[in-house]
Amino acid sequence: MPSTVTRRNLELAGLAVPLVEVTGSHDGPLLTVIAGVHGCEYASMDGVRRWLRELETTDISGRVRAVPVLNVSAFAARTPFVVPEDGKNLNRCFPGDPAGTLAERLAYDAFTQLITGSDAYIDAHCGDMVEALQPFALYEAGPAEDRAHALATAYRLPYVIRQVAGPDRAVSGTSSGAAAAAGIPAITAEAGECGLVQQHAVALHVTGLNSVLEMLGMADPAARSQETRSQPDQTQLSRFLWLRCRDAGWWQPTVGAGGKVTAGQVIGTVSSLDGGELLEEIVAPADGVIIFLTSSPAVAADGLLLGLGAS
Ligand SMILES: [Zn+2]
Repeated sequence: MPSTVTRRNLELAGLAVPLVEVTGSHDGPLLTVIAGVHGCEYASMDGVRRWLRELETTDISGRVRAVPVLNVSAFAARTPFVVPEDGKNLNRCFPGDPAGTLAERLAYDAFTQLITGSDAYIDAHCGDMVEALQPFALYEAGPAEDRAHALATAYRLPYVIRQVAGPDRAVSGTSSGAAAAAGIPAITAEAGECGLVQQHAVALHVTGLNSVLEMLGMADPAARSQETRSQPDQTQLSRFLWLRCRDAGWWQPTVGAGGKVTAGQVIGTVSSLDGGELLEEIVAPADGVIIFLTSSPAVAADGLLLGLGAS
């Protein structure tokens, strides 16, 4: 029997956010999926949208709660990284603050109304407007780690990164980090880049989400194609090092996303806008692979250049 699908707007922090709820014909877990925490990450949004349309004709066990575009004001304004009203990165604001600015209130409402109570949580991302990216899934160390690792692996992307607490940790306040802290198995899954709706990246999200349904026992693996039953080639990484520049200037990487680098290798430069002065050589701090890379030459002082995955 097909699942029941309902679509409505949910009011979060005063914004009308599109919510799709899918109820299966059998009992099972509650899976929550959010995309568009960043407003210009279109491949992940479209992956969730296409997957939800497929679910209309699928028999599942349990329930899916999904928001294809959470940061609706950033989407409308085509603003990368931040909520335009307050300039804050929504994925640094979780679990949120009901008395804070719009990003903090949106994080709070999304966390309490969508993420809390879930049996599993997926935050779907891709490289933003100015980010090249190699597909990866990131999971959190912590109490729900084993289940989160299983989710990350099930998403079938080429790199699986374990996010740890401590000095190596790149960022805090992510939605998947807040979910993990609340004991919910959670991942951030990234495929797609540069503000494009690349069909291969959209398909990676659809395949990953279907595979997660099976791993959670919510869908029948027998319905899968032979191609998606094969074991994907995955590399497990335990460090995620984010590199920044010292000065503002013109960023010129010498490697692309997915490129392998060795410790001490020069992987790019920052130079003056007039082209006359080399301001900084950027050196790989460890052997690893470029997971994401700022594709725009324009960088601010202390600007984010790239994320290096290392074992
Ligand atoms: Zn993102």
